[in-house]
Formats: sequence, C-alpha cells, structure tokens
Amino acid sequence: MEISNYLQIKKKLPLNVRLLAVSKGFSSQEIKYIHNKGQNDFGESRFQEAFEKQNLLKDFKNIKWHFIGRLQSNKIRKIVQNFEYIHSVDSYEKLIKISKISCESNKNPLIMLQVKLSDDPSKGGFNPKVLEEKWDQIKQFKSITIKGLMTINPKGLSSKENFKLFKECRKLADSLELDDCSMGMSEDWEEAVDAGSTWLRLGSIIFGNRSI
Ligand SMILES: *Cc1c(COP(=O)(O)O)cnc(C)c1O
Repeated sequence: MEISNYLQIKKKLPLNVRLLAVSKGFSSQEIKYIHNKGQNDFGESRFQEAFEKQNLLKDFKNIKWHFIGRLQSNKIRKIVQNFEYIHSVDSYEKLIKISKISCESNKNPLIMLQVKLSDDPSKGGFNPKVLEEKWDQIKQFKSITIKGLMTINPKGLSSKENFKLFKECRKLADSLELDDCSMGMSEDWEEAVDAGSTWLRLGSIIFGNRSI
C-alpha cells in the first residue's frame, strides 16, 4: 500500500476531481484499509474477481463499485446488477443492451462512454464522429444516466501528447454537454487533471504494484 501517495494526491486535487481507487488485483483487506481512510469509490475490471470482493465487503454500505473493464456481452446483466457506475461502454450495441437490461432489472447505472482518440489497437471505444452522429438517439435511451466520457491513453506518450488527447476528450464531452471525463491513470493523472478530468482512475500509484 502506498497510503502516503493516496493522501498526498487527495490533498492536491481540485474539488471537482474525484478519485476512483482501482482495486483490481488487490484484496478485500486492502480495499478495507483504504476505505477506512475515507475512500468510497472502487474500480474493478474483471467481473468474477470483483464479485468475490463485493460479497466479502457487502456490509460496507458506503462503498460504490465502478466497472472499468472490457464489457463482454454475456456479463452485462451481472454488471448492471452489481455496479453503480460503468466507465467502459465502448459501443452503441452494448449501450442498447445495457439500457434494455437496466429497464428489466429496474436499475439506472451511471454511464461513461469510452471514446477512442488514438489508434491504439488494444483499446476499444466509440469513434468520436460516430458518437456525435448518434448522439440524438443515444440521449433517448431509457434506464441509464450518461454522465460523461472515458478514455485511456496509449502508454509511453510524452506529457504534452497525453495532455492533448485528454483535452480532446474534454472538448468532446463539453460539446455533448456532459459533465464528467473519466481519464488519467497512475502514469498520466497530472496531465488529466490539467485537461479537465473529473474522475481519475488510480491503481498502482496508491495500491502498489499488482502481482496479477
Ligand atoms: C488498471 C486500470 C487502471 C489503473 O491503472 P494504474 O496504472 O494501475 O493506475 C485505470 N483504468 C483502467 C481501465 C484500468 O484497467
């Protein structure tokens, strides 16, 4: 645990920037420890692993779970039922499915639409043009609340390049009148804050290195 990093980053953040503690690869004990320091939002990217921890931590009613991993179609129902936020909605088809399932399950997940701003083949997301074209339809979907956009920058960019991509995400969110941008990880969170992030997704910088 890098609790001093956690406390220092918390202190530095502007009031409108929230910190999502990415606990994938870390135990329920570690989550409890940081929850005790006042952290309520936790991000997980693998459903099975998350589900086990959610069971162990079900008495901690203040914990809010965010799903940040790749959404497999056959897991969407369980994700909708067990997470308050979904940051990684990367296609129109999945959005349709989420909306349908939310409606059936009487849920209303808070959604970030993942956008693809670089051609990193390992990362999915909406093409910004397609998102703009479909926006009028997307806005009509029932039983979901679209809060903002999410993006993941490729590794190894310069500080300036990171800032530039984050700023593109911010501008697109502003043009769609969305408040939130889920952007910035352990390596690039400072650029993300400068560009207007409202949710930092921080894992290793606060939990230490992941073994898996
Ligand atoms: C793992 C992960 C993070 C956190 O990464 P760190 O580099 O450990 O801060 C953030 N976002 C997503 C989507 C992730 O999968």
